[in-house]
Parts: sequence; structure tokens; C-alpha cells
Amino acid sequence: MGIYAMTGGATGIGAAIKNRLREEGNDVIVIDIKDADVIADLSDSEGRRAAVDAVRDAAPDGLDGLVTCAGLGSNVPNHPLITRVNYFGTVEIIEGLRELLERRRGAVVLVSSNSAPMNNSPEFVELLLAGSEEEAVSFSETIEAQEVYSGTKKAVARWMRSKVAEYATAGVRMNAVAPGYTQTPMTEQVENDPTYGPAIKEFMASIPVGFPGKPEDQAAATSFLLSPEARFVCGSVLFVDGGHDAMFRPDQV
Ligand code: NAD
Repeated sequence: MGIYAMTGGATGIGAAIKNRLREEGNDVIVIDIKDADVIADLSDSEGRRAAVDAVRDAAPDGLDGLVTCAGLGSNVPNHPLITRVNYFGTVEIIEGLRELLERRRGAVVLVSSNSAPMNNSPEFVELLLAGSEEEAVSFSETIEAQEVYSGTKKAVARWMRSKVAEYATAGVRMNAVAPGYTQTPMTEQVENDPTYGPAIKEFMASIPVGFPGKPEDQAAATSFLLSPEARFVCGSVLFVDGGHDAMFRPDQV
């Protein structure tokens, strides 16, 4: 059985991934701002460094896998915080744990979103990919929350694809899941919001399979991507969204 690290395992999708990996008999080191093995705030470099150091201490012989699930939704009014946690809190953790992953030829699953292809702020995405946290944070304050959120999710998927060959050559397979509407504490807040709730319910009714996702649906896909069954799957973004992405972008693959 393996040893895995993950971010954002306290609630929602991350908690389902944690539970599934543990049920499969693995050790899972959870990094989160609350209810975790490693309590760390991934919104700044200090927290990210502390998280990496703590995982190094807990898994000195290496990691079989890493899942980066910590993230904030577009309902969060603090755009800089979304930017810092969703993009820099993902990329810095993966880079920091790369050596441990290489040691055991581990696999990485990043959590993107099916909103990523809908992003309309290419300038923001390029700033993220350029790696300048403060510039990206300043820019995030000039655009809508949805553009900040989808921009960070597009950038993590693009970062993954830009690094896939290098990581795979070093023995580390990377893929991403792109969840669609999945009922978690993050979405519950918006569903119950008097302003946004009715539109969200209409959006949910438009999901082609006829129901919203559950965190366990994301955990099943993540478990597959981490497993040896997926040994030839590398650099993919797997939409786990009941058909929404295909419905919105039928001509694109
Ligand atoms: P959630 O709010 O239940 O979980 C987010 C997790 O991230 C929590 O455990 C939280 O404590 C942690 N976190 C937040 N800020 C942090 C920080 N500064 N440092 C460390 N940890 C922090 O949300 P969820 O719906 O389960 O979302 C999980 C992931 O899936 C997110 O990356 C989200 O963007 C993505 N996603 C969710 C949906 C959906 O419909 N729920 C759709 C697409 C993508």
C-alpha cells in the first residue's frame, strides 16, 4: 500500500479523496488550514514551505502520490486569496514535493475545474504561468471573481501540461481532474444564497446526466488516475462533470 500527500483534505471533494485513499489501505498525509495532519496556510510561501518540510519529515522515503485539492471558489470576495491558494498553493507544493515523488515514481493529480476552458482573461493566466505572484495578485483585483477562479484553474492545468514531459521523464506522472458542479460545502453556500441560488439551481438542472456530482465521483476519478491502472495516462485533463463541458464546447477536444 502506498503513502500519499494531499492538500485540502478537510472537507468536500478533498475529504472524499482522503477517505477513498485510506479505505484502499494507503497512508495519507493531509495538508490543510484546518482538520489535517499538517496544518498550513497555503496562501503564502511560508505556509507552503512549512507544509513541504512537514511532509518530508513524515515521508522521508518518498511519496507514491500527491493530490492538490485545496482551493477557494468564486464566491470568495478576496481575489488575491483565490489567486494565492488556487495557483501558487498548488504549483509550489508540487515543486516542493517533486523529489519525494521521484523517489517512488509517484503520480500527481491536480484539481482544476470545468470552468477553466471558459476563462476570458488570458492576460491573468499568462501572469500566473509567468510565476510572478505579486503581479498576478494585483491583476486579480481588476477582474471579476469568476475570471480569477477560472483563470487559476486554467493555469494549473496548463502548468501541469507544460511540465508533464519533464516530470514523466523523471518518473512522475501528472494528470488533472476538472470537476463540474459537485455538491460540497463550497457550493452549498452559493446554492443557499438568495441572489445566486435560483441561477445555480437552473445551472444544476442543465447538467446532461441529470444530477450534480458528489465528492465521491471526483474521488473515484482521482483514485484511477493515481493507480497503476493509469500508468499510460499522462498529461490528461479528465472532465468529471456529467457532460457539461462537452455540452458547452461540442466542437472542441
Ligand atoms: P471545499 O471548500 O469543501 O474544500 C476546499 C478545501 O481547501 C478545504 O478543506 C479548505 O480548508 C482548504 N483550504 C482553503 N483555503 C486554504 C488555505 N489557505 N490553505 C490550506 N487549505 C485551504 O471545496 P470543494 O468544493 O471540495 O473544492 C475542492 C477543490 O475542487 C477546489 O480546488 C475547487 O476549486 C475544486 N472544484 C470544485 C467544484 C465543485 O463544484 N465543488 C467544481 C470544480 C472544481
